[in-house]
Parts: sequence; structure tokens; C-alpha cells
Amino acid sequence: MKQVHLHIIDDLASNGRRSARIELPTGETQALFFEHDEGALSTANGANPFLLAFFLRLMEVGAPVKIHGAVSERLLTNLEELQGAWNKWLPSRYHRFDVEVDGFVAPGMPSNGPKSAMTAFSGGVDAGFCVYQHKYGDLVWGKTDLQAALLVHGFDVPLDQPDTFQSTRSRAAAMLNGTGLEFKTVRTDFKQLKQHWEHAFGLAIASCLSLFEGTYAVGIVGSSSDYASLALPSGSNAVTDHLFSTGDLEIRHEGAGFTRTEKVGEILKHPPFIEHVRVCWAGEQMDRNCGHCEKCVRTLLNFAVFGVEQPACFSNGLSKELIRSIQLKTPQQRNHLVTILQEAEQRQVDEWWTRELKRRLSFMQNSRDAVKAAPHRVKAHAKWRLKKAIGRA
Ligand SMILES: [Zn+2]
Repeated sequence: MKQVHLHIIDDLASNGRRSARIELPTGETQALFFEHDEGALSTANGANPFLLAFFLRLMEVGAPVKIHGAVSERLLTNLEELQGAWNKWLPSRYHRFDVEVDGFVAPGMPSNGPKSAMTAFSGGVDAGFCVYQHKYGDLVWGKTDLQAALLVHGFDVPLDQPDTFQSTRSRAAAMLNGTGLEFKTVRTDFKQLKQHWEHAFGLAIASCLSLFEGTYAVGIVGSSSDYASLALPSGSNAVTDHLFSTGDLEIRHEGAGFTRTEKVGEILKHPPFIEHVRVCWAGEQMDRNCGHCEKCVRTLLNFAVFGVEQPACFSNGLSKELIRSIQLKTPQQRNHLVTILQEAEQRQVDEWWTRELKRRLSFMQNSRDAVKAAPHRVKAHAKWRLKKAIGRA
């Protein structure tokens, strides 16, 4: 079988940019770059960031890979295991491949110290919770010397929207006011590789964190699901994220021991987080919360458990109309709402919104049960009516 070649084509002299290209057996090539605002990126991590970034594309191809550069032995070991995970999750899409390398990145001591850490930081609840835990929280043995937060331009905000990114950056930086963290940004055209984003986003984040291997000892990724509601496969999860670790950079997936409501409860103790936290990617303005999408309403409900019905990061508060407008696309979204109700009950919260949410959940459940129980001909018509009623027809 023909090989895939991965070549490093850094252009550090002219623009401080790190970049690489893969050549597929079909002759097709794909290139990728990383750059940041503070001069040239270090090349000490060899091909590690690129192997992470191209990893799922290489699994889609499934041919042996020749890397014309050095890679950490620890990363090679980890990615062999990660191949097993993706191959078991989606065997028809992701195939195992062999890797040949020019040499190894030698392990060393991170220049900022053995406990130094950088966290991926999008400005949301999960990232805010990680910062809170390391700066002000109850972590004991797991506490790092958290020194920096990393926001990536090219993931949620497209590269051709620099103004939106600037305002997203200002909001995220304001959230970190007083924490003493250094705020860093990286730009990358990762998204033009057109990998399945829900599968690849964890690797994308890890590839950006690994650009700072040699400076920090730990790279932190905030969890989006707690251990009781893991849904696999997922591009970032508590089971496989540690396999993104390279020779000198340990990737830690943190926060899965807490529900989203519990995280909100913690960050409520630090008002600057509440003022600037941004959870929404559905609105027209990507630098703020729309206040109406599923994630915004769910976050408003998380806050409501603590009696906060209009947190400062939203321009609207929780309302009956918002709860009645909830539409569920996945079983996971229903589970989130059921968990919020359970958490409210545990805290003996019995408010207008808990009653309204119960009504909404039971209405949606009854509508679905009615469709399931109906004879086939009626079922098709009922399904159409249900779709129409919830606005998806
Ligand atoms: Zn929203």
C-alpha cells in the first residue's frame, strides 16, 4: 500500500508560522498552519502538533504514514491506543495505520516549571470552571501552577471574521481579569481540513496546546460532559483525552466529576466570570449569548437552580415562553434537563420554572409516546403533525 507523507514546511523566518503538508496516495495534498501574536512559534516539539491535527484524516485514509520530522515517543504510544478507540467506535470510517518517523523529540523539563499549566479557554462555563478550580477552588493534589489561557482563532470564529474574534477575545480576557493568567491566542486554518468537527475538535485543541510544549508541563481541557452522562464517541472526553499527551506536555481532561449546574454554582462565587461568560454559538453575533437557543436556555436553567434568573452574561432572563419553546434534538439534551430538575429537587427548589420545565418535558414525552403507540398509517400523519407542532416540518 502506498504511503502518506507528512512534511513540515515551517515559515518561521518570514512570519513565525509553523505549517505542514500531507501528501495522500491519491496525489491529493492538504496543508495546515499555526501562528500566534508573540513572535515565532517554537519548533522544539517537532511534528507533534501536526500529527495530532492530521490524525483523524490519516485514520480515514488508513495507509502507512511516513513523518519527515521528529515525534515524541510518548505521543506515538498514545496515538496507537487512540487508533484503537476510534476504530472500535466507527470501524467503517476510521482505520488503523502504521507510522514511520525520522527521529524522536527528546523529553526535557518545561521551561516554566514542573507544575506549570496552560488551559484551553473559549470563555464558556467549562473553561471558566477549570480556571476557577486551579486559581481559587478546592483542588489539592491536582492543583497546577496555572499560568496561561489559550484562545484559538479559526475554531468557533472563522479566520475571515477578525472583528468578531477581537470582541470574543476582549470578552474572554475580561473574564480572566484578576486571575493573573497570561492570555494567548493562536490562529490556525484547521477547519479547512474539513474533518468531522464533533470527532476532531479535541485533537484540534490538543494540537494548539502542544505548540507550547517545552514551556508548560500541563495542558488543560475542560469537560463538556460529566462522568455520569458520557456519550461516546466524542472528540473530547474523559476516556481518551489523556492520549493527546506528548513527551513534555500532559493533556488533562478536567471537570467531569461535576455537572454543568455544579460548575455554574462554583463560578457564581467569582462575579467577573458571570459577567463575561459566553456559552452560545447559535446566535447571529458569535461574541455574545443569544439567550434563546437550547444551550442558552439550558444555561439560564443552570443559573436558576441557584436563584439567579437573569445572570449578567445574558440580556434576557428566564421566562415561561423560553421554556415552552425548548425543542430537543438528542436524548442527551433531554438528559441535561432531567438532571437540572433533579438538582433543583435535591436543593429543594420548587419554583415556577421547575413546574414549567416539568410540564414541557412531559408534553414532549407524551407527544412522542402518542406517535409510537399509534397504528402505522396514523403514525405517519401524527409524526408529520408533531414535527409541524415543534417547528421542524
Ligand atoms: Zn444562544
